[in-house]
This record gives sequence, C-alpha cells and structure tokens, in this order.
Amino acid sequence: MVRVRFAPSPTGFLHIGSLRTALYNSLFAKGHSGVCVLRIEDTDRTRFVPGAMEEQIESLRWAGIEFDEGPHVGGQYGPYIQSERFDIYAQYGMQLVENGTAYHAFDTAEELDNMRQRQQAAGIAPKYDRSSMRNQYTLGEHETQRLLGEQAEHVIRLKVPLHSDIRFHDAVRGEVIVNGREIDDQILLKSDGFPTYHLANVVDDHLMEISHVIRAEEWLPSTPKHILLYEAFGWELPVFAHVPLLLNADRSKMSKRHGDVMVKDFIARGYFPDALVNYVALCGWNAGTEQEVFSRHELETAFSLERVSKAGAIFDYKKLDWMNNEYLKATSLDELAGVLIPMLAEHKYEFTTAEFVKNVIRLLRDRVTFLSEIVEFGDYFFSDSLQPLDAETESQLITNTQLKQALQVFRDGFSETVLASHEAFTAHTQASAQASGLKMGAFLKPLRQIITHRNVGAELFDTMHLLGMNRCIARINAFLS
Ligand code: GLU
Repeated sequence: MVRVRFAPSPTGFLHIGSLRTALYNSLFAKGHSGVCVLRIEDTDRTRFVPGAMEEQIESLRWAGIEFDEGPHVGGQYGPYIQSERFDIYAQYGMQLVENGTAYHAFDTAEELDNMRQRQQAAGIAPKYDRSSMRNQYTLGEHETQRLLGEQAEHVIRLKVPLHSDIRFHDAVRGEVIVNGREIDDQILLKSDGFPTYHLANVVDDHLMEISHVIRAEEWLPSTPKHILLYEAFGWELPVFAHVPLLLNADRSKMSKRHGDVMVKDFIARGYFPDALVNYVALCGWNAGTEQEVFSRHELETAFSLERVSKAGAIFDYKKLDWMNNEYLKATSLDELAGVLIPMLAEHKYEFTTAEFVKNVIRLLRDRVTFLSEIVEFGDYFFSDSLQPLDAETESQLITNTQLKQALQVFRDGFSETVLASHEAFTAHTQASAQASGLKMGAFLKPLRQIITHRNVGAELFDTMHLLGMNRCIARINAFLS
C-alpha cells in the first residue's frame, strides 16, 4: 500500500517549491491508488507562525491538492500535528536510550561553545566530541544516574556508529553514499523534552506507515541521520525520493528578489489553479513526450518518480504565463464570463448581456495572460467614456485632414450591411481611405485608435462588429467634433 505524506512546517506562507512537493506526493498517491497524508511539523516552536498552517492548507485547497488524512480531515493515524504528539516522541527517544543507541548528554551551552572553538582552532570540522564532553560515556553510569536524580539539564543524543559509511538508494538520485564520520551525534530530545525535527519526522513516518518519503532536495543531508534512526529502532526504511530545487533563470535558488515565490502571490495575480499546478508539475518532471498541457487526471497517470530529474529545475515565469493563457483559451466562455462579470461590476462597467461579455472574452483572450486583464484591456467595450489618448497620438490624429475626410466618408456610408460581413467592411474601409488618398493601413490604425483609444486589440472588424454601428458612429462623431 502506497502511503505518502507532505510535511510542511508552519513557519510562513506556502512556498511554490512546497506546492510542488505536495503535488508530487499527491500525484504519486493517486497514480498508485494510495493515500496522501498532510502532517504539520511544528516541533520548532521558535519558528512557529500563528495562522501559517491555516494559510498553507488554504493554498493547497486552492490548488486542488487533496489529502486523505490530515489535521483538517482526520484519519486513523492522528493526531497529524506534531506538537500534539510530544509524549510519543519522548517515549520513543527513551526507547533508544534503553537499547543503547542514544545517550544522555549534560553539556552546558558554554561547554559546547568551548568545544567548537577548540575544534576551529585545530582546524577540524565542528562535531560533538563524545569522548571529551560530559555524557553518559565519559561520566559513567553511576554519575549519570546521580545527575538525572538531581534533574540536571540534559539532552538525548543519537549514538552515531563511528567510521562506517551510510549507503542508501534514492528513487531520484540513485545510490547515495555518505561518510559516517561527517555525521554528528544528533540531538533527539532537547533539554525541555521537546523532540528535534529528525526524531519526530522518523517516528511519525514509521507510525503513520509512510512507504515513500518524497521531499525537497534540501533534506537529502538529513537522510543519513534518519537512516541511522531507523536502524536504531530496528524499523524498515521507506523509499526516499528527493526532488530537485527550483531555481531562478541564473540558476540561483529561487528567491523573492527574482519574482513571486509564495503561492498566495500567484493566487493574487490571477493564475488558474490548474495552470499553476500544470506548470509546477513540469518543473523537475517530464512525461518523456512533447506534451505540456495535462489535465489533473493525465498528470496522475503519467507521473512517475523515475522521470523526476536530478538537476535543479528553472522556474520560468514566462512559461507559466504561456501556460495560463493556454488554460484561458481552453476554459469555457460560460465559466470565464462567470468570473469576469463580478469584476466588471466592481469597476461599475456596463454591458447589455452575458452573451456580450462572452464575445469580448472570445475576442481578447488570446492577447492576455489573465482574465482580469480583459477588464482593463477591453475597457472600451464596457464604457463609452474612453481613456484619453496620449497627447502625441491625439495631435497626430487631429492635424490629419485626410483622415478627417476619410472618416466622414466612412461614417456617411456606414450601415448595418457594412458590419454584416468581413468583406463588406473591408470594401467600405478601402473605399473611404481611397476617397481621401489614404493607404488602407494609414486609415485602419487611426480608425482603431478613435474607436478604442488603443493601439492594439482584436481584429478591427470583429471589434466594431461587437460594439455595433451606433457606438462606432458616436465615437467617430465625438472625434470629428
Ligand atoms: N518539515 C519539513 C519541511 O518543512 C519536511 C521535511 C520532510 O518532508 O521530511 O519541509
């Protein structure tokens, strides 16, 4: 049975990289008819941010990432918030002391500091020196018991076996070998009895029967410590899969300085959840085909850990915009109008029918990234008081006598038939331009500016057809007067 988990720490808003980790877990679970668990890792109380868990859950819900178990949905393996499980970790930590794979250490902060300084001065990497510090081994059993009886401040450390390499297979990275000498005697339980991330993480993955640990590459260096913990407990290992980092275009770690990184920012900018999810799925994974636009169901069936890349994945904001536009073009006009109409109402824009709004969307959706841009970009459809033209364009238009002449001809011969077909419209604009010796282009561009007060937009015929004859004539008259 596949059981995976997404285990965020509630230290802030949900990061786009975490969204991808959650997504890969959820796709993997769905693809294997497994279970996806949400577990909140809030053991580090100094970094705890009130409200962060709720925000993260809300962002995940927005993205349509569902969990079968978790603090918000319940389940048989709960509680799913680590701060509600502290006595479980204490009990398991003590189990390791009893079986000899962990020990009590009584060093003060000052003693640890001195040790670090000694090591630095000697040019060796800082590491807990079991033989010279004050712990169960150097003090002996009798002294240890005496200190415990006095309730002397202490931590529980893992007794990392010396000099042996740690090897494991990672589903993404292949064979990983870590020199055992580089691993510190990890603290498992702190002096206040609270667990560290490592202990809580491993105990929970075991108790929650997690089969695959799919998480960000930044946790790869912790994995040997986790493996030692599994061995100390005598537990079976899960499959590990570390997914690559998300990078900026310059291959630095994705950060705020280069653009949005929090899911809430992408929500605020107006991306479709499915477009963001589709794009994020492709950051570090590919189906091995040319396909880029995937439905959620297609992602669930196509996703595999074998096709997750080892190399860091560049997050390309332009590609995301392209993806959003693909979804904008593929979403039904009914659905889009349902979203756009309230936005128009907010701007106090008017329109006759929902059909009209749908037609505006149909005309403009190729040209925008976000549906909301249509409110601004297509304002001339929803209001007759147009944005003022820029001064330069205005003076060019006003001083162009040929243009005025052509416009008069255009207006005087304007009728419903002109707007009835593309051909009739072309013939009429051509005749109007010629009447004053203007080239077609030299007439069409100003005509668009006068009708829409913009330099670009959908085809002019389509635009004017949708506006209707009366509104077009009114705009031409307003200009001429
Ligand atoms: N709590 C860790 C985080 O915030 C999770 C690490 C893991 O998945 O094991 O990313």
